[in-house]
Amino acid sequence: MTKLINVDKIRNFTYIDKQYAVDKPLGAIWSKERTLFRVWSPVADYITLNLYADCTAEKPYLTEKMSSENGLWECAVMGNLSGMYYTYSVSIDGTEKETIDIYAKSGGVNGQRGMIYNPSLAEIPFVPFKAVPKDEAIICEVHIRDFSADDSGNFSVRGKFSAFTESGVKNRFGDAVGLDYLEELGITHVHLLPIADYASVDESTENPDYNWGYDPQNYFFPEGAYSSDPYDGFARIIEFKSLVNALHKRNIGVVMDVVFNHVYDVEKSSFNTIFPDYYFRHDNSGSLSNGSGCGNEFASERLMARKFIADCLCHWVDEYHVDGFRFDLMGLTDIETLEYCAKRLKAINPDILLYGEGWTGGASPLPESRRGVISNIERLSDFSMFSDEFRDCVKGAVFSDEDCGYINGKPSENAELMKCVLVGGVYHPDNQRENEYCLSDNPLQRINYVECHDNLTFADKLEISMPNASHEECAAVNRMGAALILLAQGIPFIALGQEFMRSKDGNHNSYNSPDSVNSIKWDMLSENKDTADYYKGLIAIRKRFGEFRLSSGEEIRQKLSFADIEGGVFCMKTGDFLLAVNPTENDVMFALDGEYSVYANHEKAASEPFAYIADSVLAKPHSVVLLREHEGNVIFE
Ligand code: CA
Repeated sequence: MTKLINVDKIRNFTYIDKQYAVDKPLGAIWSKERTLFRVWSPVADYITLNLYADCTAEKPYLTEKMSSENGLWECAVMGNLSGMYYTYSVSIDGTEKETIDIYAKSGGVNGQRGMIYNPSLAEIPFVPFKAVPKDEAIICEVHIRDFSADDSGNFSVRGKFSAFTESGVKNRFGDAVGLDYLEELGITHVHLLPIADYASVDESTENPDYNWGYDPQNYFFPEGAYSSDPYDGFARIIEFKSLVNALHKRNIGVVMDVVFNHVYDVEKSSFNTIFPDYYFRHDNSGSLSNGSGCGNEFASERLMARKFIADCLCHWVDEYHVDGFRFDLMGLTDIETLEYCAKRLKAINPDILLYGEGWTGGASPLPESRRGVISNIERLSDFSMFSDEFRDCVKGAVFSDEDCGYINGKPSENAELMKCVLVGGVYHPDNQRENEYCLSDNPLQRINYVECHDNLTFADKLEISMPNASHEECAAVNRMGAALILLAQGIPFIALGQEFMRSKDGNHNSYNSPDSVNSIKWDMLSENKDTADYYKGLIAIRKRFGEFRLSSGEEIRQKLSFADIEGGVFCMKTGDFLLAVNPTENDVMFALDGEYSVYANHEKAASEPFAYIADSVLAKPHSVVLLREHEGNVIFE
C-alpha cells in the first residue's frame, strides 16, 4: 500500500492540517439499523475495527477493514450494536497496535475498549435547571471520593457518583451532611475534581487506590471507579447523569475539572497509537516537551486536537448538562482553541462558566503570546482565572509553609496588594497599582480563593504559619479569610471542608494519599460549626446584595472606595456597605458618623442585620466588621 504522506512531511503538522483536517463527527455513530465508525489518521497503513460482545471478551466476534479517504477511515456495521464494545487495530509503518477510539463515548473496565450505545438507553429524566449567571457564581470544589469515603457521614455508598444523590445523610452529631449540606451551605456551583476516565486507579479491584484524577486516559466518558459497575458502560454514564440531576434539583450547577494539557501515558496513549506525535508538542530536538510537568503536553493548536477538545466539551454539555469547566494548566492551551471552545459552548449554554489555571507547569514551546495565561487574560474575555495573587496575599505564599500574608502576620506589607485583589484586579485610584499593571477591567475574570486541592489546606496553613495561635485564634483568622473571599469583587471559590477547618495533616500534594488523609471528615462540621455558619452567612450576604458582585471596573470605581487607617487596617466602602478590616493582633476602634446595622463581625455573619450601632465600632483582632449605613457618613480617623 502506498503511503499517503511522505516521511519528510510526517512531522510537518501545519501541512497535515492543511491537507487532511476534517470537520465531521468522529467516533461510533449509532443508529438502530447500523453503526458508522469514523477515525482520523492520515498516516495509517490500514485500520481494522474490532467488535466485542463485552469489555473483557478474549476475541472480537467481528473484525472489519475500514476504508480511507484522505486520511479519514470509515466503516459501517449493520444491525443494532448498542451495548457492544470496540477497538481499532491501527497499522503504522508496518506495526499494528490495538487501541480504544479517542472519541469513544463510553467504555468498559479500565477504559480499554469503547462502548457503542443507543443514547436513549443512557437517558434519564431531564431536570430543568436555570443556569446561574457568572456574576452570581459561588464555587465549591469537591472530589467524588472524598465526599463520601469517611465513616463520619452515614452514606449508603462510599466513594461513588451516587453518594451525591443521597438525601438525609447525617454525621455522628446528627447534622446534615452530603447533598443536603451543599444546598444548606448556599454555594451555586460544585466543581468536581476530574471525573473523566483516568488511568492510574485499577477499576477492577474491590478496593481501588486513591487518585485526584489528573492522569487522563479517555476524555468523553466518566471514570469507572466512581460507578457501581466499571464493566458496564451504561452504569458510569447514568450514574454521573444522576449526580448532575441531583445537584440541579437543589439549584446547584456542576463544573467539571478537565485536563487537556497532557495524557497519563503518552507512549501507550490512544492518541499516539492512532497518529503518532500529532497530538503532542515537541521541542527543537524532537523530544516531547514538558510544559505540564507530567512528561508531555497536548498540542491544542493543531486543528484536529482543537476539534477534539471542543467536541469533547460540547459532548459533556449536550449529554450530561454540565454547567461549566475548569481547565487544568490552561496556560498550555492556545488562545485560539479556548476562544473556539467558548464560542461553541456558549451556543449551547450562554451562561457556561469557564475558568482555569492561567499558568503552565514548566517551559513550553507554545509561544507566550498564544497561551491561556493570566498575562493574556484580557484577550480571553469568556474565561476567568484563579487569582494566585489573591491566594498568596491573604495567607502567604503556597511554596513556603511558614510564610504569612495579610491576615496571619504580615498586614502592613500586604495591605496595598489586598486592596488590589479585593477589587477583582481592576484599576482603582484608591490603591497603588497603576492602570497599566491591571491586566483586565473585568472583575469576574478573577477567581478569588485561598484553598483548593493543591498545597496545604487553609486550616493547615494557618496552624503552621501561626505556631503560637490557639485553635480559636486560627478559627478567627480563617473567618477573616472567608470574609475577604466572599466579599471581594470577582468570583469566590472555596474547597469543601475549608469552612469547617479541614486538615490534611500538613500534606501538600495528597494526589494519591489514602482516604484517611483526603476524605471529608464530616464530624468536623459540627466541631467547628461557628466557622461553618460564618461561611454560610457570608454566602447568604453575597447572594442577597449586589454590592459584592459588581460586573465591571467602571462600576467598581464608581461605587467602591477605600480609606486607609494604619498598620494595614483599612475600610472598604461599597454602596451602602462599609467593611472595616482589622488584620492586626489588637482591637481597633473605628469611628462612625451616623447609625449602622451590623451584618458581620468576628464571630457571626448573616444576611439580616443582628445588631445596631452608632458613633463607633470595635473590630476584634484578625476580623472584619460589615456594616450597612442607615444615615450619615463614616469618619475615618
Ligand atoms: Ca479509569
